Amino acid sequence: MKPSTLRIGYRYRPNRLAPEYDAVVIGSGISGLTTAALLSELGWKVCVLEQHYTAGGYTHSYERNGYEWDVGVHYIGDVGARTRTRRMFDFLTDGKLGWAPMEEEYDRFYIGDKVFTARAGKQEFRDNLVRQFPAEETAIDRYLDLLQQVGGALSMFGMGRAMRPWLRSVAAPYLKWKTPDFMFRKTYAVLSELTNDQDLIAVICGQWGDMGLPPKQSAFMVHAMIARHYLYGGFYPVGGSWKIADYIIPKIQKAGGEVFTYANVEKILVDDGHVRGVAMSDGHEIICPVVISSAGVDNTFNRLLTNDVVRECGYEKSLREVRPSVGHLCLYIGLKETAAELGLPRTNFWIYPHSNYDQALTDFLEDDDAPFPVVYVSFPSAKDPEYLDRHPGTATIEIVAPAPYAPFEKWKGTTWGKRGDDYEARKAELSERLLRHLYDKLPQLEGKVDYFELSTPLSTEWFSGYQHGELYGLDHTPERLQQDWLTPRTRVNGLWLTGQDILTCGVTGAMMAGLLTTTAMMGMRKIAPLMKQIFG
Ligand SMILES: Cc1cc2nc3c(=O)[nH]c(=O)nc-3n(C[C@H](O)[C@H](O)[C@H](O)COP(=O)(O)OP(=O)(O)OC[C@H]3O[C@@H](n4cnc5c(N)ncnc54)[C@H](O)[C@@H]3O)c2cc1C
Repeated sequence: MKPSTLRIGYRYRPNRLAPEYDAVVIGSGISGLTTAALLSELGWKVCVLEQHYTAGGYTHSYERNGYEWDVGVHYIGDVGARTRTRRMFDFLTDGKLGWAPMEEEYDRFYIGDKVFTARAGKQEFRDNLVRQFPAEETAIDRYLDLLQQVGGALSMFGMGRAMRPWLRSVAAPYLKWKTPDFMFRKTYAVLSELTNDQDLIAVICGQWGDMGLPPKQSAFMVHAMIARHYLYGGFYPVGGSWKIADYIIPKIQKAGGEVFTYANVEKILVDDGHVRGVAMSDGHEIICPVVISSAGVDNTFNRLLTNDVVRECGYEKSLREVRPSVGHLCLYIGLKETAAELGLPRTNFWIYPHSNYDQALTDFLEDDDAPFPVVYVSFPSAKDPEYLDRHPGTATIEIVAPAPYAPFEKWKGTTWGKRGDDYEARKAELSERLLRHLYDKLPQLEGKVDYFELSTPLSTEWFSGYQHGELYGLDHTPERLQQDWLTPRTRVNGLWLTGQDILTCGVTGAMMAGLLTTTAMMGMRKIAPLMKQIFG
C-alpha cells in the first residue's frame, strides 16, 4: 500500500512559529480557515493549528495507490450563480476555485424497488416532483412555499447567533417574530401536515444523510436549509476538494500568518476567566489572548478546556442538552478505467431499503447486521473535469453508510493500520456488503474494482479528531438548534467558537460559521466594509 502524498500546510515545529500572533485558530477545516482568512484580511496575523498531516479538515483529500479521494465533500449547492455562497468562496479563494456542475439529475433515490430523482432548478425540481406525484401538486407547492419562508428566517437565525447575549435578549421578540415556529419542529411533523403520501415525504427527505438524522428526529430548519442549498443542483470543486484549503491558505500567509499541520493542541490555557493561549501536545505553549476553536463543541469543552473551567463557566448542564451525531463508514474505491469508460454518472445515488427511514435507522442501530438504513454512492472522478490530468486512466467511487461508534469502541486506542485481524475481518465483511449495493445498481463494475479501503468511525476519530467518530459534529435536533450558548462568543474571555456546531453542518454552513465568528469578534461597524467587499 503506497502512502498518501497529497499534503498541504506547513509542518509544525516550535521554532517555525512567529514570536507573536494576534489570534490562534484550532483546526484548519473550512470554518477555521474562513475565520483565519477574514481576520487576515483585516490585518490580523493568525496561527492556524491542525492536528492532521494535511490542512482542510473535512475538505481534505488523500491519495493512495495512484487514486485520490475526498473525505467530506461530495457536492456543494448554491454556487452556480453569484449567490452569497458563491461570493464567499470567490473571495476566500481569490476567484481561483472553479465549480463543475453535476448532471441535471444530481440525486437519484432508490427507495425499496422504486426510483425517484431530484433535478436542478426550482421550477424543474417542482415539475419533476409533480410528474412523480401528480396527485400531490398542492402539497408540493406548499412545501416549496415553506422553503421560501425559511430563507429569510435563516439569516435572522444567524444574526441572532452573532449578537451579544444582552442584545439577543433585547431583540428576542423580534427574532422570534421573524423565525416561524415550524423551523424548530421535527421535519416529519411539518411534512405530514402537507401530505399523507409516504413516498413523497421519503423523496423530499431523500437527502437526510446530508445532516445525519432521519425526518422524525431532525429539525425542519436544517432539512429546509439543505433542500434550498441543492435546489439549483450540485457542484464539485474543480481539481478536488483539497483545492479549497489550498487556495485559501495564501490569504492567511499574506498577512504574516501560517497554517501548521501535525500541530495537536492539548489544552486551551485559561487564567482567571481569560484565555492565555494553547498548550501543544509536545509541551510547547503558544501565548495569545485570542483563541478560536473550530475543533467542535465536544472537543473544545470536554477535552481542550479543563473540567474546572467548564464548571466555573456553567457549561456542564448545557453540554448535556446536545449529543454527537452518528458515525459513518466510507468505502474508497479505485478502478483502472476512466469514469467515461465505466459509465459512471455525475449523479449521487441514495439507496434505501424502504421509505420508513426512521424505522430503518432504529433497526440498524439495534442490530448492525440489519440492512444499512441508507447507502450513499458518489462518483468523484466523474464529477471533477481535471481528475484525469492527475490520475490518467483511472476512476474513483465513494460509498458512505452510517455506523454507530459503539461496536468499534473495543478497538479504541489502537493504532491506525494496526488494529488487528478481527478489525480487518469486520471491515472486510462491511466492505463486501457495501460493494454488493454498488454492483446491484451498476453491474458493469463487477470484477473491475482494483483497490478499496474502508474507513470506520475510528478513522474519523484518528484523522479528524472527533472523539465519537461523529459524522457532522452535534446532532441536528430541534433542541440543539435552540441552545442559545452555541454561539461564537463563549463565557471565557478571548475564547471563540466557530464551525459546524455553532450554525449547521455542510461546507457552506461551516464557512458561514467562520463569517459569523469574525462578525461577532469584530462587531458590525468594523466588519461592514469587508462584507461590502465580499457581497457587494
Ligand atoms: C463523509 C462526509 C461527507 C460529507 N459530504 C458533504 C458534502 O457533500 N457537502 C457538504 O457541503 N458537506 C459535506 N459534509 C459536511 C462538511 O464536510 C462539514 O460539515 C464541514 O466541512 C465541517 O467543517 P468544520 O470546519 O466545522 O470542521 P472540520 O472540517 O471537521 O474541521 C475541524 C478541524 O479541527 C481539527 N482538530 C480537532 N481537534 C484538534 C486539536 N486538538 N488540535 C488541532 N486541530 C484539531 C480537526 O483535525 C479538523 O481538521 C460531509 C461530511 C462527511 C464526514
